[in-house]
Amino acid sequence: AKRSGRNAARLFDESLDEGIRLRRQIESNLSQAIARDELSMLFQPIVATDTFEVVGFEALLRWHAVAGGPISPAAFIPIAEESNLIHELGDWVLARSLAVLKDWPGQYVSVNFSPRQFRRHNFVGYVMEQVQRANVAPSRLQIEITETAIFDDAERAADTMYRLRQMGFRIALDDFGTGYSSLYNIRKFALDSLKIDRSFIDGMMRERESVAIVHSIIHLGQALGLGVIAEGVETDGQVAMLRAAGASHLQGYLFAVPITAEHAAALAKSGITG
Ligand code: C2E
Ligand code: CA
Ligand code: CA
Ligand code: CA
Repeated sequence: AKRSGRNAARLFDESLDEGIRLRRQIESNLSQAIARDELSMLFQPIVATDTFEVVGFEALLRWHAVAGGPISPAAFIPIAEESNLIHELGDWVLARSLAVLKDWPGQYVSVNFSPRQFRRHNFVGYVMEQVQRANVAPSRLQIEITETAIFDDAERAADTMYRLRQMGFRIALDDFGTGYSSLYNIRKFALDSLKIDRSFIDGMMRERESVAIVHSIIHLGQALGLGVIAEGVETDGQVAMLRAAGASHLQGYLFAVPITAEHAAALAKSGITG
């Protein structure tokens, strides 16, 4: 038992080392990714459930490292989030996301903000300055945050959200249902929409539990006067269920995968089936 314990400890050390090495590699390369022109943005349409009209696009970051190929944002965002790199990255994402709005007739762009970005000093002034610089109305920016962003200091987060709403920005609570204190949070925060996490949409066709959760989230959103966006919609069966349940908006591969700015501009004008 002693022996296997020691082996287990060494194994743990080694995988830890490996993790640290990978992290350092991502960190050092990511800090140069902007300068090397390795980052790009893709845009995924969000459609109205009843008409399939494209109302907005979610901006999704892509990193294609010259040495090493594509790296998922799910892998590098959390690492950037642990340092000030997230601010540099976030500035780039926001500027690029706002720049495409001039090519769309009226849709909004929905940008993901990490908890650290949202909590930065004078976040409200920062986004206001960026939309003014891009010469677009605040209503054309939807700010996507997760519950993690508002969990730590709920009072301060509530104040930030209130001021953003006052200025006309849209706010969506992302990955809803996966966080800690869902009900507590939506009670006091100025929100426009809830985004139902993809895991529930995915489970809907298989488990009664997921169906029940999706229905509850939609009813809650309706009762509070919020939009409800279902993400990760891949099948007609899901659309039928979500429409019957009353989700206001849908997003997922069934309608379109994340696409380039050029393609998004064409889709913004012609619509999904055009
Ligand atoms: P998220 O905000 O929950 O974004 C939705 C993810 O689901 C995206 O993954 C999208 O490509 C994927 N998706 C959309 N429709 C479908 C579908 O029908 N089926 C399946 N299987 N997947 C679908 P992606 O682009 O890999 O992004 C992963 C996560 O990385 C995002 O999750 C978000 O948390 C983060 N992220 C991406 N871009 C940014 C960014 O610019 N800033 C920040 N802070 N985070 C970002
Ligand atoms: Ca999102
Ligand atoms: Ca999400
Ligand atoms: Ca997610």
